[in-house]
Amino acid sequence: MKIIDIDLSKRKVKATNDHTLDKYLGGVILATEIFTKNCSPTADPLSEDNVIVFANGPLTAAFPTASKTVALFKSPLNNELGESYAGGRLASALRFAGYDGLIIRGKATHPVYIAVHDDSITIKNAELLWNLRSVFAVGRILRDAEPQGPGRRSFIRSGRAGDRLVKYANINVDNYRHFGRLGLGAVFGSKNLKALVIEGTKDFVYPDMKAYKKAYREIYDHLKNSDDMDKYHILGTAAGIKSINAMGALPTRNFSSGKFEHIDKISGEFFADNLLLRKIACSQCPVGCIHVAYLRVPYKKEEYDVETTFVPYDYELIYALGSNLGIETGSDVLRLIEIADRNGFDIISLGGILAWATDAYQEGIITATDTMGVNFEFGDTINYLTAINLTIRRENDFYYTLGEGIDACVEKYGGEQYAIRIGGQTPAGYMTGPASIIGHMIGQRHSHLCNAGYSYDQKAFGKELLPKEVVDSLIQEEKWRLILNSLVVCLFARKVFNIERTLKSLISIGKDYSEKSLLKLADEAYQKKNQWKKDAGQAFSADKLAERIFRLKTPHGFIKKEFIQEAIEYYSKLSSIPLNSK
Ligand code: SF4
Repeated sequence: MKIIDIDLSKRKVKATNDHTLDKYLGGVILATEIFTKNCSPTADPLSEDNVIVFANGPLTAAFPTASKTVALFKSPLNNELGESYAGGRLASALRFAGYDGLIIRGKATHPVYIAVHDDSITIKNAELLWNLRSVFAVGRILRDAEPQGPGRRSFIRSGRAGDRLVKYANINVDNYRHFGRLGLGAVFGSKNLKALVIEGTKDFVYPDMKAYKKAYREIYDHLKNSDDMDKYHILGTAAGIKSINAMGALPTRNFSSGKFEHIDKISGEFFADNLLLRKIACSQCPVGCIHVAYLRVPYKKEEYDVETTFVPYDYELIYALGSNLGIETGSDVLRLIEIADRNGFDIISLGGILAWATDAYQEGIITATDTMGVNFEFGDTINYLTAINLTIRRENDFYYTLGEGIDACVEKYGGEQYAIRIGGQTPAGYMTGPASIIGHMIGQRHSHLCNAGYSYDQKAFGKELLPKEVVDSLIQEEKWRLILNSLVVCLFARKVFNIERTLKSLISIGKDYSEKSLLKLADEAYQKKNQWKKDAGQAFSADKLAERIFRLKTPHGFIKKEFIQEAIEYYSKLSSIPLNSK
């Protein structure tokens, strides 16, 4: 495997071809091997001891939707293994530059960015980019500053939230994609790292181009003819807003309800009819699920003086800054997304924290003195805009704490009965039943995407669920997704990449794997990640789940705490990750 290894403390750059890593497939399996060997589980995540590993996969730039890059790091938000995925052009730019992965360690003495142009790798001064008010401005400056060649370029950067160490700051990738969860932006900030520019101009051929073209065509045709792909292209993931609401599973006003009465003004259909500007795609993706809206905001008192900006939206963003905050119109949701996105916040975390703050304010455990006069109230866009601005500035003790994450908020102010948190972060927007909650708890990155508990719930509507069966099934799914996340294909295309087509694709480009060998690699990586998480102090506790979760009627009825307890006790035995020790 060809790996770039950058030590910011020593300002040293090394590119190696390490054949001992060749057997690790790519993506998350490769990144797990590198990360667990190089980052101590006890490292302070905001110190120079933290290590960031990026990896693309064997199918990158070769097959449709193999468009993702994985990042592993120690998360400053929950002190566990941070694992995050982003699309855009990063994976293919790295591939065309000739690399499978990139390691960043140490800490620069002053703000820097890293520029990779094929074999030229340099660390450059980024002082003028630090604290700029928009990640888009950072992207524009870098596009002008860096030499333009005929290759594929990708620009990834932190926003002000990352520069100021907000623990759930994200990393923006090529404007409309993100390493969203678990605080990679804060890790960048702590390393004085602002951005990465990757450009690749190399080309490659496969040993049997005929077999490759055949395998490519098969994947492409399946993608083109799949219903899922139509759904993602037409309305994007926002298509789910209406259907999840109809089943009573769309978190509303901090999970106090699963149905939002203003659904028609924030649905995917509403956005598409009234606000959609364009659809775009990650590189090598024929689907194009990324939906970008235009937002017109008056900036002067005179009539028709408006500023127009482009704002990406999807299901999770509409849930987090829409229904869960009681925001009643699509354009107001966009205003909140715009400021959060421009400043580099993980929007699912930000929305969950603002929702908690609203209940805490209404209950009187935080006061107008704490909030500097901001009246937290569901549905009040202007006050939320002000609160986001004050959080970016980390203006006082209260807003500083909001930037530290949901656990820190509860520790300082209380309100745990309405702090919706799992594994130290606020969850995705699916109150479909117990499998969704269990999936977030036992999933190796507390994410709905890697184990699909929400999808398990939906398939089992009308059937009785059993804790052990749920756990067994989620583990099995997560191990298969470890393989997909090593290729690294978009999980929206997961049904197209079944085992048969996955093997054909790999073999067609000279990677000789069998089903057994892939599953063995996935199992080993799964165990390695669990061991690292255990050494980092991970433990399970159903007690941290907010009471409110058990009072919300889901499509599977009320979730029972005993059900969750039984599931995590069973998982704890299987994984040897302890219960209740933190
Ligand atoms: S389906 Fe969407 S997220 Fe997935 S690769 Fe294509 S454009 Fe990117």
